[in-house]
Amino acid sequence: MPTIGNAQLKLLERLCNAVAVSGDEGEVRQIVLAELSGQADEIKVDALGNVLATRSGTAKKRLRVMLSAHMDEVGFILVADDGEGLFRFEIVGGVDERQLPGKPVLIGNDHVPGVIGARPIHLTKAEERRHKIPLDSLRIDVGPGGAKVKPGDRATFATRFTRSGPALLSKALDNRFGVATLIELVRHAPADIDLLAAFTVQEEIGLRGAKVAAYTFAPDLALAVDATPANDLPGWDGEENVSYNTRLGLGPAIYVGDGTTLSDPRLVRWLASAGEAAGIPYQLRQPGGGGTDAGAIHRARAGIPSGSISVPHRYSHTAVSVARLDDWKNTLALLQSALEHLPSGLLTAERA
Ligand SMILES: [Zn+2]
Repeated sequence: MPTIGNAQLKLLERLCNAVAVSGDEGEVRQIVLAELSGQADEIKVDALGNVLATRSGTAKKRLRVMLSAHMDEVGFILVADDGEGLFRFEIVGGVDERQLPGKPVLIGNDHVPGVIGARPIHLTKAEERRHKIPLDSLRIDVGPGGAKVKPGDRATFATRFTRSGPALLSKALDNRFGVATLIELVRHAPADIDLLAAFTVQEEIGLRGAKVAAYTFAPDLALAVDATPANDLPGWDGEENVSYNTRLGLGPAIYVGDGTTLSDPRLVRWLASAGEAAGIPYQLRQPGGGGTDAGAIHRARAGIPSGSISVPHRYSHTAVSVARLDDWKNTLALLQSALEHLPSGLLTAERA
């Protein structure tokens, strides 16, 4: 059985501290390839940079089960050198511009430190402080002699991974949770399925890697494994928050539907009953916006039954998000249990 102990937490830490913004996932890809070495029957890197690992089962009739976890994260790309160590930049993926001023960043594979400069309070007027600073007047400042970075380099928030008791804090739990989970599942793949693990690129800018990965794998069914926002803070007035979509501490979030996919109900039932049978807590993510790799996978080829399961975390796509270690443990445990008890007739069952 896969478990999460110190080794897995160390791996998550390395994955989270890597800089791997969409289109430049190399740093995470190297870790994935090293961790998978000797663990799969076939491992390849496709034309877009997805890592595709196959672990074949031994049963006679086997379902081809694709699991997808995106390697990329949201962040920034330097676009112009203004001299004096100042660089113009653009946002990659969904990041709120209001959060940028004053944040430290790390740039490129060498993790060159910089800061998204903010004018100090001494030099701003009250009126000015009421407005958002437009992106085109922000710069990343790496200090004089900024020759080690160049336009095209990616940057992320400079937050270091931290474990604090039951809590995990990082810039990239979305989706290094999924990457670390898939690595463990490949290592412990059940014998009666073909496990097709896709570590995908460019999810944050439109599920691009998953689209071609699904084409290559041509699976019978697919699950995206990701991290999902938890909107679960208590009301400011002390009222109970009844509009949360997912909550920390309630276990993995199984998707019924999101902005890009209506999960195949047979997969939702399979995951939920796996949780119940094994006594693993889970929650149903409330329908709404957002999306995962499943959004591209379910529309690949002639259609692929798909669903998603995620670790909830607060403050997604900001400098630091917060999650619970137990939710990650339960996500891995539920997936392992579901894969080990995959009913062979799952896809011939009625949908509703
Ligand atoms: Zn994600």
